[in-house]
Amino acid sequence: MAHARTAGAPARECAWCGRRFGSGDERRAGRIRCSACGVATTSPWPGDEQLAGAYAAWYRPAGGRFSGAGDAVLKRTRSALASRLHRVLPPGPVLDVGAGDGTLVEAFRRHGRQAAGVDPYAAGGSPHVRAAEFEDIDGAWSAVIFWHSLEHLRRPVQALRHAAALIVPGGVLVVAVPNAGSLQARLFGDRWLALDLPRHLVHLTPPALLTQVRDLGFQVERVSYLRGGQVLFGWLHGIVALLPGHPDLYDAIRRGHARQAPQRPALRLYALAAAVAALPLALTGTLLEAATRTGGTIYLEARRQDLSGEWFRHHFMSMP
Ligand SMILES: [Zn+2]
Repeated sequence: MAHARTAGAPARECAWCGRRFGSGDERRAGRIRCSACGVATTSPWPGDEQLAGAYAAWYRPAGGRFSGAGDAVLKRTRSALASRLHRVLPPGPVLDVGAGDGTLVEAFRRHGRQAAGVDPYAAGGSPHVRAAEFEDIDGAWSAVIFWHSLEHLRRPVQALRHAAALIVPGGVLVVAVPNAGSLQARLFGDRWLALDLPRHLVHLTPPALLTQVRDLGFQVERVSYLRGGQVLFGWLHGIVALLPGHPDLYDAIRRGHARQAPQRPALRLYALAAAVAALPLALTGTLLEAATRTGGTIYLEARRQDLSGEWFRHHFMSMP
């Protein structure tokens, strides 16, 4: 399992609220759940070298990650996201945090909107994506987007605070993260797709995320448990992983060179066939999650309210 590759010291404090772990915090495979804020922190806490290895070329190869139509589907869904956000965001530049190869940034630019990305693991695929840490980025932005990237950051709350400092009044924060409080997370436990150890460092719940975003002075305008994507696939992956031999569907749909471990063709075929058979059950699970608002991802749009708080301090108090 993925967390077996995680070496290093156990996490000492909650990566979300900063509280020091004690005997009252629940230890689970590869993570510790904070009894104060409900967020789980990956443990052992991976070192820089180990994370660099976990993001090595196989994770996002230049030739594409997925076989068949997978990469094209990914590009189309990013394009749809950009089109929708372009309509609802105020005019001005947008910043995509954890931009990867720049698919979302390029989609915004096709609408004629100024857009840039930041990603410490950027491989130089797009001239508009800077290989840097988010906290080194400055400027005034109409929107900052964390599309499945917040959970990869070592200091996620500081990152949100930094975003609050960069977003102009009336601007929008967009976040999509896996929902560790979802039905599928609870059902599939240690085999849940979106645990993704050791790359995911925090495992968030809706109350923890929403409270933090509001505390930073944002008005939450939209919360969706489907829009963040990966909900149906999370079910498919989880159901297939319950079968004998625990086939890894996520690896099965990746191109040969983009897999974590070599996979025998027969096992790959077995995983794919099982996914087809599991589709009706996975659809049922997805609908159930949608109806009960416990979906596998949390998506939110939140608007920056006024000149108070982080934005004011950042832009005016720091002047000489
Ligand atoms: Zn905590």
